[in-house]
Formats: sequence, C-alpha cells, structure tokens
Amino acid sequence: MTTAASSPSSNGIALPTYADVEAAAERIRGAAHHTPALTSRTANERTGANLVFKAENLQRMGAFKFRGGYNAIAALSAEQRRAGVLTYSSGNHAQAIAYAGKLLGAPTTIIMPQDAPAAKVAATRGYGAEIVSYDRYSQDRLALGSKLASERGLTLIPPYDHPAVIAGQGTATKELIEDAGQFDIILVCLGGGGLLAGALLAAKALNPGCRVYGVEPEAGNDGQQSLRKGEIVKIDVPKTIADGAQTPFLGDYTFPIIRDLVEDIVTVPDAALVAAMRFFAERMKLVVEPTGCLAAAAAFTGAVPVEGKRVGIILSGGNVDLASFARFIGEGA
Ligand SMILES: *Cc1c(COP(=O)(O)O)cnc(C)c1O
Repeated sequence: MTTAASSPSSNGIALPTYADVEAAAERIRGAAHHTPALTSRTANERTGANLVFKAENLQRMGAFKFRGGYNAIAALSAEQRRAGVLTYSSGNHAQAIAYAGKLLGAPTTIIMPQDAPAAKVAATRGYGAEIVSYDRYSQDRLALGSKLASERGLTLIPPYDHPAVIAGQGTATKELIEDAGQFDIILVCLGGGGLLAGALLAAKALNPGCRVYGVEPEAGNDGQQSLRKGEIVKIDVPKTIADGAQTPFLGDYTFPIIRDLVEDIVTVPDAALVAAMRFFAERMKLVVEPTGCLAAAAAFTGAVPVEGKRVGIILSGGNVDLASFARFIGEGA
C-alpha cells in the first residue's frame, strides 16, 4: 500500500499542514474573535522573561475550541450540515460544536460525561444541542459516539483527533505570532493534542526558530510518556482539576505532529494551576479555568525555564462555574 505523498503522513493518514491552518483562518474570519495578546509587568518581573498571553478565555463561548469546531462544521457539505453533527466532550468542545452548529444551521448531538461541570452542561444545552450522558470512568465514549453517528446519519467531529479541528486550533498561534512577533518559546496546554498540534503547524511555518512545549497536568502525563516511548501511551482517566486535559491518550493525527515537532512535554501540579488562577484574577483581571492555566503555570513554576526569553503563552479557556472559581481562588488565600 502506498501513502499520500503530498503531506506528511503516519499509518497512511494524511496529516493537516500549515495550508490547512490558513484555510481555517479564512473560514473562521468574522465568526471567531481575534483575541488579544496581553502582557503583565508583574508576570515579567516574577519570571525574568517577556511573556505574551493569548487570551482565548475571551474567545466566543470562552475557549479556543470554537475555532476548531466552527472550522470543522463550516468545511462540511451543505447536505452533511443539514443531517447534523455529533461529538463527545468533557465540555468546551461540546459548547463549541453546539454554538458553531447553531450559527451554521447544523443540528447537534453531544455525548457528555455525567460529571461534567454544571456551567458547561447548561451552556451546551443553551445553544440548542441534544445531550446524551455517559459515565466517563466505565463507558467508552468513542464506541458510543460511532454507534449513535451511524444510527442517526450524523457526522462525528471528535474533540481533537480531526484534521479540521487541529487546523482551526492552529489559528490561535497564527494570530499570536502575527500580532506579537517572534518568540523564543511558546507554551501550550495539552489534553488530546488538537491545540498543541495546531500550534506546532503554525509556529513551524511562521516562527521556525521557536521551541514549542506541551504542558500537561502532573496526574495525566500520557503525552509525556508517549513522547518518551515513541508511541501513543494510554492511561486511566486522570484525576485533576484541569478537566479539559483529562484525555487519557493522544490521537492518530495529533501524536505524529507532536512527536515530530514538539520540543518537549512537561507537567505541572494542580496546586500550580490554582496559584496561576489567582494571579490572573488578581493581577490581570482575567477569569481563566484550571486547564487554561497549564501553560502559564509551566512558566511560573520553572517547569520550562523562561528567564531572558520571549515567551508566548496560550490561555486556552475561561469556562469555570463561579462556585468552583470562588473555591479555587479561596484555597490559596
Ligand atoms: C480542550 C481544552 C484543552 C486541551 O486541548 P486539546 O486540543 O485536547 O489538547 C485545554 N484547555 C481548554 C480550556 C480546553 O477546553
């Protein structure tokens, strides 16, 4: 069997390229927010670095996932859109698909864990999606998703392992580099790897000398293990407050891109996420959800040495219900 020669490939699948990120940028133009790149003198003083934060917590529906979700639905045929789309997600991708589906006239069905954060479930339902619940510690959402999709004739758009999703997520880093200039280092949180893979495609095209790091919660370092081993390592669903990074394994599209292009994958403990949340609330007046603090926490804790460097940091989302936010903020007081 031969594989496509036009783009890098792994196991015969055609991986997305920077051209797909550019196409995504055109598709989402006017629909997604072009979020600001923010700086903080205090953060620079504390780290001895020059940090630039890409505020995807201010993205539509509160996270970068709107980029990939909108791009993936917009890329479907009119017929596929009319028939509807389905996904499984612990929250932000669900909201992204529900909201993008509403804007693009595609009915949406979302498979969500029973213990998903209340604010995320309510918001997803609010965008008009049909919700199907499952138990994330015992049921296989992939199998459930494929079954429902084929029964109902829906197009499955998974949360990270999809070329159009990866390409859409890459537009955040494209904007960051185009707006703020060249970086020595870019730090990106890592769940299933859609955001990191997209960031790598954008950074290697626009800022080739930049070192891009993935950041995972300490309890869920499957990406780090996979990178060390050279193959996808699956772990049990990790217990961490970074609910957006509870994915137990990387994908067939995201892993080869990450393996080939990432500088390294580091981890940070949950306590560092809480400290970062407090910092953003107190000093920058930003609400950033725990998962959204992963990349910044790597700079703040020194998990990635940043002194003297110009560093891009993706704040990936801000969807945390206020009761949890208050509890987290209170913890370190
Ligand atoms: C989904 C998500 C992540 C992880 O993104 P992946 O593409 O799965 O690696 C990080 N932060 C937030 C806020 C998310 O919603």
